[in-house]
Amino acid sequence: MMIERHETDILILGTGGAGLFAALHAKQANPDLDITLAVKGLVGKCGCTRMVQGGYNVALNPGDSIERHFMDTIAGGKWLPRQDLAWRLCETAVERIQELENEIGCFFDRNPDGTLHQKAFAGQSFDRTAHKSDLTGIEIINRLMEKVWAARVNRLEEHRAIKLIPAKDGSGVAGAMLIDMRSGQYRFVAAKAVLMATGAGPTMYRYHTPSGDKTCDGLAMMLDYGLALRDMEMVQFHPTGLLGGDDTRMTGTVLEEGLRGAGGYLLNGAGERFMLDYDPAGERATRDIVSRGIYEEMRAGRTTPMGGVYIAMAHLGPDHVAKTFPGMVKRCRDCGFDLAGGQVEVVPTAHYMMGGVEFNTDASTAVPGLFAAGEDCGGVHGANRLGGNGVANSTVFGGIAGDSMAAYVATVGQHRDADESMITAAVMEAEHPFSKPAQSSHELRDALAHTMWDDVGIMRDEASLKRGEARLQEYASAIMDIGVADGAREFNLTWHDWLNVKSLVTISQVIAKAARAREDSRGAHFREDFPTTGDLETTKFTSISQVGDALELTLKPVDFSIVKPGESLIEGPIGAPSSHVAE
Ligand SMILES: Cc1cc2nc3c(=O)[nH]c(=O)nc-3n(C[C@H](O)[C@H](O)[C@H](O)COP(=O)(O)OP(=O)(O)OC[C@H]3O[C@@H](n4cnc5c(N)ncnc54)[C@H](O)[C@@H]3O)c2cc1C
Repeated sequence: MMIERHETDILILGTGGAGLFAALHAKQANPDLDITLAVKGLVGKCGCTRMVQGGYNVALNPGDSIERHFMDTIAGGKWLPRQDLAWRLCETAVERIQELENEIGCFFDRNPDGTLHQKAFAGQSFDRTAHKSDLTGIEIINRLMEKVWAARVNRLEEHRAIKLIPAKDGSGVAGAMLIDMRSGQYRFVAAKAVLMATGAGPTMYRYHTPSGDKTCDGLAMMLDYGLALRDMEMVQFHPTGLLGGDDTRMTGTVLEEGLRGAGGYLLNGAGERFMLDYDPAGERATRDIVSRGIYEEMRAGRTTPMGGVYIAMAHLGPDHVAKTFPGMVKRCRDCGFDLAGGQVEVVPTAHYMMGGVEFNTDASTAVPGLFAAGEDCGGVHGANRLGGNGVANSTVFGGIAGDSMAAYVATVGQHRDADESMITAAVMEAEHPFSKPAQSSHELRDALAHTMWDDVGIMRDEASLKRGEARLQEYASAIMDIGVADGAREFNLTWHDWLNVKSLVTISQVIAKAARAREDSRGAHFREDFPTTGDLETTKFTSISQVGDALELTLKPVDFSIVKPGESLIEGPIGAPSSHVAE
């Protein structure tokens, strides 16, 4: 099998907010650097940064502060975040939003006095979410994309990264193996620094919000390389994903929480409002509580025809709803539902992974030359991500990674010699399905989606997690027996489906293992057999590495390096009035 070889100074995998910001910052730091962006989709058209609706958290108002944003992030994350990372996020968001406006050219919504308009979001004690109407991500990604196009950065589009390649002498990372999805060509890109910015994405769940190109490939690659993944049990579910049936990709997509914030009702299949049975805040409780309430109704069989619950807005006046939520009304209408005047079926949907690779405040990882940023990373959000902290996270740490990589590359002389045996191994692993009898991987992906939803989902216990782990082990074996029918490598989507399922099964196993180890309930992780939060002072995080073929788990103490449980950096309450809502 012929392998094409390229050399670059910095290789960036993924082109969401993290990848694009990294490219721009590295280029700004040193315009002579040769920078290559490689992405599974098209630059500016894939990943989740583009999908951001609600907005971007940043403390700008004189009444707000970095300390307040930080405390909300720590409290929202149930004291599990790595505090120096959370602080870096809140601190750097201030300069990043100014950069987005003044250098990148984003237009955000403004108040009559010219200041940025900032709205209320869940879990926040101050209205600090900057936005561009409800299409914030498109504004950010389009402007970033234009800057990158103008910046003389190499682009490898529709290129899938499959393996990180170490140096022959073990001194660090030497580059990455890619498949050019259009031609099927294998490419090894040698680089002095590599950034993982592939955006994780919990698309192994039956209902999910992220873009289909995200299948946890980067996490699987880093695990395979020997890096530790932390907090992987923390998968956030958004309470109201559209339920349009199994035949539409619209199923699982978000119906924004503003609907509940505005006074929308959730009704079970019998037409009864049920959220007040679970929480005094009713539909306005936080997203984990509402997701669990809906899930309980579903488990009890009190469901709509397609197996979810209804969201009802008509009592607020159909005209008012249509005027206030035009995008949501249109999304529902496209699927045959009348949001303004009728009822729409909804279901909780997997939205975001708080867990990811262990990384540092300068975006470095434990491997020299390997950096990480964005949703691939763990530790920033702990047990829960606040709405608006996701895109702040990817752009803040993407920029930091660009600065760090430019500085790092200046200290590195030559490219490291690659371990050729790992390049060969990468090809053999990717070619594996061509050596097996052809069979669709769709059934396996369906089985995976149901196992993760039923056994490793919104509510878990020892028995369900054990069952889930056993099934996942079967899927890990089964995928190796599934072959790809068409021998052609050009745009062979069956092959890429196979590779997607393989990454998803691997990372699902990590999630299940971490969830079984955490014997308490915090934020997004709810154990029916351990329903209380546990002692905050002795909080530990889960850390999982691959050793040989086995996953090894360690529970490590959280370092309260800035503030201890029971203390605060601010006066007054932390967190949000329960009427505040989020994306
Ligand atoms: C519907 C929706 C709404 C959201 N709304 C908000 C919001 O209002 N506020 C907020 O803060 N956050 C929001 N988020 C979360 C936010 O979008 C993400 O946290 C953030 O944008 C992730 O940025 P990223 O750069 O890490 O990854 P992404 O932007 O997802 O980019 C990942 C990139 O990696 C590429 N990639 C994946 N695998 C490979 C591979 N094997 N090889 C090469 N490339 C690969 C992808 O194609 C993509 O280009 C929302 C998410 C969703 C799904």
